[in-house]
Amino acid sequence: MTTVLVTGGAGYIGSHACKMLAREGYTPVTYDSLVTGWQDAVKFGPFEKGDLCDRARLDEVFATYQPTAVMHFAALSQVGESMNHPARYWRNNVEGSLTLLQAAVGGGTQNIVFSSTCATYGDQDNVVLDEDCPQHPINAYGSSKRAIEDMLRDFEVAHGLRHVIFRYFNVAGCDPEAEVGEFHQPETHLIPLVLDAIAGKRDALTIFGTDYDTPDGTCIRDYVHVMDLVEAHIKGLKWLEQGKESRVFNLGTGTGFSVREVIEQAHAVTNREVPVIEGPRRPGDCTKLVSGSTRAEEELGWAPGRSKMRQMIEDAWRWHQSGHYEK
Ligand code: UDP
Repeated sequence: MTTVLVTGGAGYIGSHACKMLAREGYTPVTYDSLVTGWQDAVKFGPFEKGDLCDRARLDEVFATYQPTAVMHFAALSQVGESMNHPARYWRNNVEGSLTLLQAAVGGGTQNIVFSSTCATYGDQDNVVLDEDCPQHPINAYGSSKRAIEDMLRDFEVAHGLRHVIFRYFNVAGCDPEAEVGEFHQPETHLIPLVLDAIAGKRDALTIFGTDYDTPDGTCIRDYVHVMDLVEAHIKGLKWLEQGKESRVFNLGTGTGFSVREVIEQAHAVTNREVPVIEGPRRPGDCTKLVSGSTRAEEELGWAPGRSKMRQMIEDAWRWHQSGHYEK
């Protein structure tokens, strides 16, 4: 069986990727510090606790499992936090990825699938966000991910480490079987926060800014179902296994939803009121991030069939009601 090292396999997207990898016949080995991840979420393969910046620990794990590929999810990913604590993002994301790539080269691994973000594009009015669009991030999270993309290109030239980079738009929804799900502590993402507000786990959802230049004044995002997202990762992995060239793919649907539209859909799915407060803008937020590319569909044969807003909220709500991980 082919072994894949999954950094961040105890996190939201990484745990869904492990489930999909196992289903496809791979052995996913989770490498996670558990700073933001949950050991309960590691259900589909071995678990190795470790920090991305710990070269000796990484070397040990590469030597033990000799993975043929890495899926690299482990990262800090909160836009707001990255504005207040940029050093955390440069240390964890950039230095951590550098250490990982050095260990991967040392361990003889040839392929890496990397989680990047549409936040690398920044706030570009009237620009089609396809993979060739210039990257001008406006927050430290996006800057850290753009730096890692550059690092991957340099490592390929020097060491032959091949990559597929996925620039995610907003990931949402959960495993429909609710074996794994989305659970951040603290939670900062819109859909789980809306569901928390509906369930009375918090007082109200604060809308961050109602004066954006959009039809209803709130930010617009392109939401993709986590199961569709991880399916793209399997396709990206197979792409590299087939010896194809390193490539960047956007993962979004091309359809945008405003914050208010997401709240309305959550009301429709749950049939419950969403308590809402209108607040100021959150620093670092772009007005609109919607994918303008169909490259993943055309070249990988990806079909984001589950990425309907209603479906994403239904799947998230099922998980939300079924319980959570414990430390
Ligand atoms: N958002 C909001 N209230 C919240 C959390 C998020 O209005 O409590 C907005 C946020 O400003 C952004 C959108 O919802 O416009 C999606 O934010 P999220 O943090 O889920 O993802 P991001 O786009 O930052 O990756």
